[in-house]
Parts: sequence; C-alpha cells; structure tokens
Amino acid sequence: MRYAEVFPLVTARAVARAFTYEVPEDVDIGAIVRVPFGRSRARAIVTKLVDAPPDGVEARPIEAVVGEILPTLVELALWLADYYGSTPARALALVAPLTPKRRKEQAPPAERQALGGEPEPAELSETQREAIARIVDGGPGNVLLYGATGSGKTEVYLQACATMLERGFGAIILVPEIALAPQTVGRVRARFGDRVAILHSALTDAERRDERERIANGDARIVVGARSAVFAPIRGLGLIVVDEEHDPSYKQDSDPRYDARTVAAKRAAIEGAVAVYGSATPRPESWAALERLELGGRIGASLPAVRVVDLRREAGYPLSAPLLDALRRVAENKSKAILLLNRRGVAPALHCRACGTTIRCPNCDVALVLHGDSSLRCHHCGYTRDAPTHCPACESPDLARLGAGTQKLERDLARELPDLELIRLDADAVAKPEQLTSSLARFVDAKGAVLLGTQMVAKGHHFEGVELAAVVDVDTGLGLPDFRAEERTFQLITQLAGRSGRDAPGRVLVQTFQPEARPVVHAARHDVPRFLAEELERRQALEYPPFAHLVRIVVAGPAIEPVVRALDELKAGINGADLLGPAALLRLRGKHRAQLVAKTTQPRRIASQAAHLLSLAAPAMRRAGLTAVVDVDPQSL
Ligand SMILES: [Zn+2]
Ligand SMILES: [Zn+2]
Repeated sequence: MRYAEVFPLVTARAVARAFTYEVPEDVDIGAIVRVPFGRSRARAIVTKLVDAPPDGVEARPIEAVVGEILPTLVELALWLADYYGSTPARALALVAPLTPKRRKEQAPPAERQALGGEPEPAELSETQREAIARIVDGGPGNVLLYGATGSGKTEVYLQACATMLERGFGAIILVPEIALAPQTVGRVRARFGDRVAILHSALTDAERRDERERIANGDARIVVGARSAVFAPIRGLGLIVVDEEHDPSYKQDSDPRYDARTVAAKRAAIEGAVAVYGSATPRPESWAALERLELGGRIGASLPAVRVVDLRREAGYPLSAPLLDALRRVAENKSKAILLLNRRGVAPALHCRACGTTIRCPNCDVALVLHGDSSLRCHHCGYTRDAPTHCPACESPDLARLGAGTQKLERDLARELPDLELIRLDADAVAKPEQLTSSLARFVDAKGAVLLGTQMVAKGHHFEGVELAAVVDVDTGLGLPDFRAEERTFQLITQLAGRSGRDAPGRVLVQTFQPEARPVVHAARHDVPRFLAEELERRQALEYPPFAHLVRIVVAGPAIEPVVRALDELKAGINGADLLGPAALLRLRGKHRAQLVAKTTQPRRIASQAAHLLSLAAPAMRRAGLTAVVDVDPQSL
C-alpha cells in the first residue's frame, strides 16, 4: 500500500489541512485526484507521499487520477498559502484551475492563427547589450531593469527571451493588463509566433484550457499574461519578466491576496530562473533591494518639458487657460493629447449649499458620484439612484456639484474645443475589452484628438504624434490617506509624461494646488533617483516598506461591536509583533469593518498565526456573520 497527503480543493478555512488517502503506485506529487470527501467528492492535489496514514486514521482510496501539475508549482502554492496567511487549498486552486472538458469539434482560438515570426531583432545600445548579458549569463536572481519610457526595455525582454529559448528554457512575461498593453503583446507575438501563449481575462474557458494545454505540452514556451500567468505550467522556466513592475494591479485583491511580483521572485528561486523587474518608475522596494540594470534615457528623443500649472493662480478648473492654450495648438496641428483625470463621472459629490448635506451611499461611508445620465452612483458597491432636484434633508433646490470627473471634462472639452475628437477611457466608457481595443485604435488613427480618462490612459501605451500630456488634477491622488499616495502620484505623472513626445518634441502639463509637493517637483524634473532616495528616507523614519512588512487583518460584519471583539481576540492571540488597532474603517457594501495592522520583519509568522487563529474561530465567526481577510504586504493602507 502507498499513501499520500492530499489537499481537497475546498475553500473553507475550517478544513484547511491535509487528508491521507491510499494511492496507486504511479501517483506522484502534483497529481490531481478525485477523492471521497465527507459525504461527497472533491478534487484534490497530492502534496506528499507517506508510508502510512496517521495513527487511528483509516485512509480511504482515491477514486481516480484526473491530471497533474508541476511539483515546483505545488511547492510554490504551499509557500504562497503560508506567506499570505491563506489556505493550501485556495493557493493550490491557483496553480490547478478547474477547466471544462474538451468538446470535440473545438476550433483553435482565432487569435493564434496566422502568426508569422518577426526580424530582425532591433539593434542594441551598449546598455541594452550589458543588461541582456547579465540576464542570460549572470545566473539566477532578481534584477531591476530601470529606464525611461522609450529607452528600449521591451527589446531587452525580447532578446533575453530569444536566448533563453535557444538554450531550451521557457519564459513568462507579466504585464499589468493585457488589453492595455497591445503593443508589447504584439511585439512578443511578432517575434516568437506560435511559440507564444497569451493568457487574458477575455478568453473563454475553452480557450483558456487550450492555451494551458499548449503550455503544459511544450508547444508554447513563452507565456504573456496578467498576474495569474505567474502560475503558468511552463517546464524548464528560465526567465520571468515583470513589466511595469510598479503597477498595483500585480496584487490580487481577493484571498489569497498574493503579489505576483513576490511570487515571481519565489518561483524564480525554486526553478533557478532569473526574474527581471522593469520600470521607468520603480517601487522604492525594488530600488532599495534589487540588483540594478540602468538603460538610461529615451532612445532618439529627449524627455518632454514639464510645466506645473498652479491652480491657486489660474481660474477655469478643470480646464485652466494654459491647458486650453496647449489644447488649441493640438487642434491647430491636428496632433494628439492625453488628459488624465483619475475620477469617473461628472462630479464626485452633490452637496447642499443650504444645510451642508452631502448625498451619501446608504451602504458605504462615501459620497455618491453624479454621472452623466443624471444618476448618483456608489463607486464601491454599485448602488444607483436618480439625482434629486432638491436636498433630501432640507428640500433646498440649491445643490452644488463638487469637483470634476472625466464626464465633466469631456463636456467642457466638447464645448471649448469642438474640432478635437474626444475619446474617453474609463470604466464607464470601456466596460468591455473590445471597447477598450477599439477606443485605442481610434486614437492611433485620429488626427486632432484627445484621449481622456482615468489612470488607464497612463499605462504602457506607445502612441505616435502625442504633442501634449496633461494631469488635470494631481491633488486627487495626493490627498489620499495612504502611505503610497506620494509614490503613486509620482509614478502617474512620470508615466503620463512618458506618453508624450516619443517621436516629436512634446509637452507635459501638471495642474495642482500643491506645486511644492515632492512628487510634483521631482516628476517635473524627471528626477526618479532623487524622488526614490527621499521616499526611502521617509519610509525608514515611519517604518514602512521596504524597512518593515505590513500585515493587515480586516474583519467585516453586520455591526461594529462583534467586529471589534473578534479583532481584540485575534490581537490577544498573536505574539511577536506590535499590532495597531482595532481601528474602524469606512463601512462598505453595508458591512461594518475594522482592522489590525502589524509593522513587522516577520510577516510570515504573523500571517500564519493569524490564519491559524482564524481557522479555529471560523465556525463562531460564521455564526456571527463575520468575515476575515489577512492581507500581507497590502498595496494601500
Ligand atoms: Zn439641504
Ligand atoms: Zn456603496
């Protein structure tokens, strides 16, 4: 008889442990099996082979072997569950996603067809050559590839991948969002043809299964995808590229709350691969910790001049006189502009001038946002109502619209500059990936156009003919009570500036009420090293990452008292770190919430203690209607 420890892929914390089953001779670690579990059946993963079941346990036989995953991915998942305070089953489900059975007359995914190989690879600069040499010949490890937008990072990725492929290794290229990186994806495909698999959220289940099969059987040796592609079942992995490594979308916001950047480093370590983190605006964490490869400035052009518009001296928000002037020139030249306003809707709040009431969401502690169809919407829970004509508290008709969102910006632009084509990019305008693709294509072909929208407009695009890039309101981001507010603001301005003047001299405008704010001053000078040096000093003084890890435990429930009580009990049970809180948070989706926060050098210990205590408390918490989240290395706080 042979026995194995398996984790049934069930999400409940209460059964988050291994179970022992009798297995056939040829079963190995990584086998996906079907087992009798309680009164039903479950899919399960074999994680360990053992000689005998534990004393007093009668091991039942498994029913069938239904598939397999790489043993390295089992190791990765078990580490992930431990590090992020999740359960092995939830982590294993990431590396062994359930995919439907093949239907017989399934056509291959359309986008795989008709793929030729590209050229000639581009000619390299000296710094690019050195970077590639380090990546392919310098041994395993994590390196930061730092260079301005347009400095040729993508070519470094491509040629490093090509060398890895020649040597028999596979590669993974992570991008923040496939739909927002069409040029990068296009270049990878053009260069490597049908050896590339693309994993993106718009794939049907059947297409996703096909792509995974091509990866698993070795037909596809390069995988491009968003964060979950870090789990792609590539054998003999030699290289993981994390493009735009500063992007917050690499963190998953549901359990397990993994960070694909951290997972990439762990997977590279397990497989002896190299992980390359590329950015024009690296995270302070990466700047401080990683071996740095510098590409320097933009190839063939200089970075655009940045003008800071002081809104204390300029009327006309959101369109100040200098911004209107710059846009008029864009209209005259029939060129292009990109305008960033990181707020959707018409106005972020409706406010009564008579009694001071702001109209709020009944489920969340936030103001409702006025939208173009005269609705008021909650951006957290989706609650929607018609905008009232009179104040619900005092019946005054004197309701003021506070601030501006992308829809108001669009209206004002249409009024002031009727000759410019306006293309709006935000979650309301481009709800589907096809809409996003067609909007971006329209902008590429346009003559005399403005691409306006939320942070989507600042991500990774490489458009020609962009004469002007403008941040309409830097203060939206700077004002957030978040230790990353300055980092994010700096990244946003610098990234947006990088979208301008790639082929001809461009200009950048930044509108703010705080022209002396550090991120504004340094971004205006394109001074990334200086900003990062000062940011690291500040983080050190406050014991924020990278000088400590943060672990956040959030409990939500129908009332605040049981939430706080549950957190007090957790706090009492966790030792080895100072825990701040419980502190109440904004109510969201009708749930009261509070959190504990640890600043610690031992995040794993805190997270695994918390996970253990939560699994013990799971039945009682469920009865009280409480849910809990452990968030290791949260991206905002
Ligand atoms: Zn009122
Ligand atoms: Zn709400």
